[in-house]
Amino acid sequence: MFKWIIRRKRVRIVRRRRARKPRKQSKKTKEELAKYREAARELALRRLEYFNQFYGFKWNRIFIKAQVSRWGSCSAKGNINFNYKIALLPLKLSDYIIVHELCHLGEFNHSEKFWDLVARTVPDWKKCRAELRRNEKFYIENVVSAS
Ligand SMILES: [Zn+2]
Repeated sequence: MFKWIIRRKRVRIVRRRRARKPRKQSKKTKEELAKYREAARELALRRLEYFNQFYGFKWNRIFIKAQVSRWGSCSAKGNINFNYKIALLPLKLSDYIIVHELCHLGEFNHSEKFWDLVARTVPDWKKCRAELRRNEKFYIENVVSAS
């Protein structure tokens, strides 16, 4: 599971701002959300299939969620969840998130073995993880202004 650390205050401000939007615009936001969800699903499937050539794992179902605090997660049943916002990240970072959750099918933990799996296709995973953490605020604002 890749936790997306957010300052609570910031999220609350964003939500309030969105809630104040007139009805017409909030309908548009729903359409935008559907568009991003679809884009995220397409991206996740395409990249999962690509990266799984190097792993040969089996996943069950893929879900695209609108969670606030997580980029992705993987269940013991082999279901993988992704935040729709992966569609708005640079490919390098969404790839890291996708590979991260994919590798949980092999190692259901964050052990050294897990990171070795990740490094097989994302050798600079440490850089990606740091970049996600460093720029999380920027990515939130990006998504908000795009919706
Ligand atoms: Zn994880």
